[in-house]
Amino acid sequence: MTNVPVTLPDGTVKEFPQGTKLLEVAQAIGPRLAASALAAKLDGRLLDLTTPLESGGPLQFITSGSPEGLEIYRHSTAHLLAAAVTDLFPDAHPGVGPATDTGFFYDFYREKPFTEDDLQHIEAKMREIVKADFPNERVDYPKEQGKKLFEQMGEFLKCELIEEKADPVFSAYRTGKFLDFCRGPHIPSTGRIKAFKLLSVAGAYWKGDEHSHPMQRIYGTSFFSQKELDDFLTQLEEARKRDHRKLGRELDLFSIQDEAGPGLIFWHPKGGIIRKEIEDWLRAELLARGYDLVYTPHAMRLHLWETSGHTNFYRENMFGPMPVENDHYQLKPMNCPGHILIYKSRARSYRELPMRLAELGTVYRYERSGVMHGLLRVRGFTQDDAHIFCMPDQLEAEVQACVDFAFLVLKTFGFDRYEVELSARDPAHPEHYAGTVEDWNLAEGALKNTLERMNVPFKYMPGEAVFYGPKIDVKLVDAIGRPWQLTTVQFDFNLPSRFGLEYAGADGHPHTPVMVHRALLGSIERFFGVLIEHYAGAFPVWLAPVQAMVLPISDKHQAYAREVGEELRKARVRVQVDDRNEKLNARIRDAQLQKIPFMLVVGDREAQSRSVALRRRDTGDAGSRPLPEFVAWVRQLIDTRAAKW
Ligand SMILES: [Zn+2]
Ligand SMILES: [Zn+2]
Repeated sequence: MTNVPVTLPDGTVKEFPQGTKLLEVAQAIGPRLAASALAAKLDGRLLDLTTPLESGGPLQFITSGSPEGLEIYRHSTAHLLAAAVTDLFPDAHPGVGPATDTGFFYDFYREKPFTEDDLQHIEAKMREIVKADFPNERVDYPKEQGKKLFEQMGEFLKCELIEEKADPVFSAYRTGKFLDFCRGPHIPSTGRIKAFKLLSVAGAYWKGDEHSHPMQRIYGTSFFSQKELDDFLTQLEEARKRDHRKLGRELDLFSIQDEAGPGLIFWHPKGGIIRKEIEDWLRAELLARGYDLVYTPHAMRLHLWETSGHTNFYRENMFGPMPVENDHYQLKPMNCPGHILIYKSRARSYRELPMRLAELGTVYRYERSGVMHGLLRVRGFTQDDAHIFCMPDQLEAEVQACVDFAFLVLKTFGFDRYEVELSARDPAHPEHYAGTVEDWNLAEGALKNTLERMNVPFKYMPGEAVFYGPKIDVKLVDAIGRPWQLTTVQFDFNLPSRFGLEYAGADGHPHTPVMVHRALLGSIERFFGVLIEHYAGAFPVWLAPVQAMVLPISDKHQAYAREVGEELRKARVRVQVDDRNEKLNARIRDAQLQKIPFMLVVGDREAQSRSVALRRRDTGDAGSRPLPEFVAWVRQLIDTRAAKW
């Protein structure tokens, strides 16, 4: 019998007889490793622990600590789910069941919808199967024979997948009575699954195609410990409470109206005032930073989008063209060509550069009706867009100014944490990219140098750049730890040459400017959604739609209450007086539910001393304050845009 050498992660080489199972290899290395191993990676391939050693190479055991560990574990939990469902509901036909970023799902075709009750029964059955500790057994079938087997079982969806995807000899996994066409690998047995939970059931389509079979998608998640699962469920609950669609309704901020169409946002007065505050801040900051504000049309000739190339590489995201007088017009999906036309409207000299054209530009993009999600994924939105046209030696300063501006966004809107990613080209395939190698070196260098000089930690991602240029993405991390991609600084080596952009250099010769697209908030709609969830609807004073609510204790204090309201209004504080014929406590509760930062209770004592009894939405009773002092204090919170108030 020949021996097979394997190299362990610490560099030691060990030999094992050919045919030794990987689990036995783990046992030979140590019982603790064998107990914690979920699968193995041999020579770059992920394998089950039952796989016999055929040839050698670098060998690593996958445990809960490995990057691949959780995915394999969760995919095995999806099989566990399917085993339970097919056992309880013989009329359910399994489709696909992958792991996701936060758990797993499995799609089933079944005429009757699954109910909440069903989910509980399924979960109980899953626990039974965990207790029974069934092995996840791999079986290899020649394609035709295996397909016949699935046909006999009536699993028509699996047969379709086998037809399309299976190798001449394919693998299937058996968990108790359940058999699944699957590449694997899987954890050794169901008893290894420590903590799981089914979360919801939703509609889906076979292969995502709305003309194909309707499917029921059961979502769940699993973790290596109950503690991790509990933490996740707590966060999920917190996220549910903060859901911007729910808060948007409760606080009367915005709506989406079926009569108008999906993905189109109506900003109600209270959402509108928040948007105005955001835009006012942004415009003032843009002007202070040397940007010029422009406006461009919402629909332009289709031909323009042919020149820009959007009708090629962006067509599926665009609304269809509109016929107008023997021509076609296109709703704009982006603002770039409009800004380019402004640049091109006359000859440019190097003295005018850098030119920074900014627009709160509303764009329309086609999204399938199934993928829309509140304010986060929509069909019409306003970008805080800008395009910077500059000379190569101005690049680093421009990139630095963009990153600096992005950090000001973080600070202004109360985000403490962020993540930065630099997407660069794939150095092995320069032919995939527009622009010269020198262009790319310059641009990637400018991005990298700037981040390093500013001591900004970032993740370098080669091969992630789009074809027309490298970029930096800044993700804000919200109050409950979720990252949101908002800011992008994107180079473009494609559009300047497609539009023949030029400037006269100091040498008198024509040159092509460097073009940078940049958005800080990204889309105002999406940013608003993120803000609602970040603040859980309790906006800081400067953004709050109603900043103070005056509450007279009884009828006879109404005159003074109106006076207080008048004083605050004069100081341009957004104030309301709630003198409804309701109990004080009920009115306080309503103001609290509306998340109004300050409640000002006024009675005899306050009227006599010209003061207010202050109540804060976060900490409650805050004592009495002279009215002028309170007015000055609120004014200061607003003027400084205090982020935590
Ligand atoms: Zn599978
Ligand atoms: Zn652009």
